[in-house]
Amino acid sequence: AIKAEILSIGNELLAGITINTNAAYIAKQLHSIGIEVQRITVIPDQTEEILQALAGAQQRAQVVICTGGLGPTPDDITKQALCRFFDVPLEFEPTVFEDVQRFLNHRRISLNQANREQAVIPKCDLVLHNHRGTAPGLYFKRHNTHFFFLPGVPGEVRHLMQKDVLALLAEFYRLKPITTRLLRTTGIPESRLIDKIGDLLEQYRQFRLAFLPRFRGVDLRFTLPQDAEQERKTFEEFVASVKNRLQKYIFTEEEKELEEALGEILKGKGLTLSVAESFTGGLLGDLITNVPGSSAYFLGGAVTYSNASKMQLLGVKQQTLQTFGAVSQETVLEMARGVQNLFKSDCAIATTGIAGPGGATAQKPVGLCYIAARFKDKERVKKFQFGADRIMNKQRGAIAGLELLRR
Ligand code: ATP
Ligand code: MG
Repeated sequence: AIKAEILSIGNELLAGITINTNAAYIAKQLHSIGIEVQRITVIPDQTEEILQALAGAQQRAQVVICTGGLGPTPDDITKQALCRFFDVPLEFEPTVFEDVQRFLNHRRISLNQANREQAVIPKCDLVLHNHRGTAPGLYFKRHNTHFFFLPGVPGEVRHLMQKDVLALLAEFYRLKPITTRLLRTTGIPESRLIDKIGDLLEQYRQFRLAFLPRFRGVDLRFTLPQDAEQERKTFEEFVASVKNRLQKYIFTEEEKELEEALGEILKGKGLTLSVAESFTGGLLGDLITNVPGSSAYFLGGAVTYSNASKMQLLGVKQQTLQTFGAVSQETVLEMARGVQNLFKSDCAIATTGIAGPGGATAQKPVGLCYIAARFKDKERVKKFQFGADRIMNKQRGAIAGLELLRR
């Protein structure tokens, strides 16, 4: 495979002020055209560091992509470093000056000396014209290495990657996009997933399958290598067998979240939903309404944190609360029935639990929760024992609610 390195330049990255999202974005894009990222390096805005990093990368990689430090402010010194590294002069580049003028005109900003200096760039092999900002991207080819220098602003990085860098690399190396498949699961930990498909992993071990645990579940990402076109049929067979085995845990094959997938099901079937939330405090409603168009199925919710509100708004019986407690199977079921009745919805989800750190008893430890889901007059309830972290417990409770209804 073609080997690449990413070089992220910026003091703010090392200080922890800025998260290095550019490197993650670039790595993902390179991977999508079959280029393997071998190393990501973060260095300060210091000439010697930049020179050293470039020299190292040139020895190891065929593609080097750098971001940051191309701007006109005194802390941005990448341009000077490039002149030394490539042994080229700074030159006024009229086409870049036109870009800068056009960009500023459009925003009704007047041109200053710093802007004029943006058109003074190291003499490179190709200028990558930037329509999203004032610093151009620069391309150099030295020996067998392609160097790309991009500004630091993430939107400008995406713009130049999409407009120029990926197309140029595809042309240089005659690359075709690689085939990947995604199966997004929820409600099953990674270790149990592996148990369930261990034999398939063995049987199809020529293919790469990445397990990517996220907070909300585990993503399975399959990759068909570029040089394995003749194995495509076997690859599809592999994906289909895993899919078949894990069917009930898979909620989408696209880059979608659970609330989106659930929303599509509800919308497709013309069903409505309401929620009753105790310990999740509105988080479930928040997740559901993150999806554009959720008004088509989501009617509303009740955040009933106190026992009194559970009784008054949802009709939970005092007897139930006294006998079983607020955190119980009986209470959560009455909450679900109550909210379904209140909103006259087809479906309902209810949550109750002990988020922590206080509120626990010997029988009811922190992290204990009950989730109920109703679809018409069918109901389902599930007990969970989460951990000690309050915020995580709330989040897991909300996700578990979505998951219980989807299933
Ligand atoms: P400009 O022309 O905007 O000055 P520049 O090339 O000089 O571009 P920087 O000044 O280094 O870029 O960074 C511009 C902005 O982009 C800053 O807000 C910085 O925090 C952010 N940024 C820089 N590098 C990264 C990175 N690797 N990931 C995410 N954001 C970044
Ligand atoms: Mg910088």
